[in-house]
Amino acid sequence: MPVLVLDVDLADGVGAWFTGRDRTGSPPGVGAAGNLSHRRPHQPAVLARTRAEVGRRTGRAPATWHTMHQVHGARVGVVDDTVPPGAELRGVDALVTRLTDRTLAVSVADCVPVLLAGATTVAAVHAGRRGVQTGVVTAALDAMAGLGDDVAGIRAAIGPAIGGCCYEVPADLHTEVVAEHPAADARTTWGTHALDLAAAVHTTLEKAGVGGVQRLATCTRCDPDARWFSHRADPTTGRQFGLVVRERATA
Ligand SMILES: [Zn+2]
Repeated sequence: MPVLVLDVDLADGVGAWFTGRDRTGSPPGVGAAGNLSHRRPHQPAVLARTRAEVGRRTGRAPATWHTMHQVHGARVGVVDDTVPPGAELRGVDALVTRLTDRTLAVSVADCVPVLLAGATTVAAVHAGRRGVQTGVVTAALDAMAGLGDDVAGIRAAIGPAIGGCCYEVPADLHTEVVAEHPAADARTTWGTHALDLAAAVHTTLEKAGVGGVQRLATCTRCDPDARWFSHRADPTTGRQFGLVVRERATA
């Protein structure tokens, strides 16, 4: 089947995936093949088909995914027994759970998707420029620790995001972000101020003591195989997902 679904090896008993475009389908505009988010103009039948395909390939039915209504903040939604399976959590940019069989979803097209798994919890994080500045990654780690997990045992996967090669920002914004996150310092391939948000996230995770960080070193905007949706490349484009689920409890 055509939608790109990458298996991520995160931890024992944990399923994790990053999706991408369907390059055999329509060009990467509105409703482009592989899109997993509600986008205008809404194409519910196409969206349902695409989600169903990803559901088949991950073994996780889309009706059970916990999506977020993301707001570029640092609030964390905890999925516990009070949250009905498949419910969307609004106004949050990270989801954390210690329950099994609760699939957490993050939706992106240039922002950094981060999947996390510790001994007892999993998390999905949306870390755009504002999320990096407001500390959403640290907030997610704190929530995992608050649920009893040990940060040193947490593994992280940083998914497809726009690279420093392409993420051009004004000089004053560059200065502001790099002052807090030196690892984000970058120049575009055309020589202007840029941010490498994935590098900033990587450094934040390592500084927090996360035991292992893997990074998909690819840029959503200039990937030579055009595998990803990129808002900078096309503001009307679709969204790819990161998905993570604890499939069974570990000792
Ligand atoms: Zn690039």
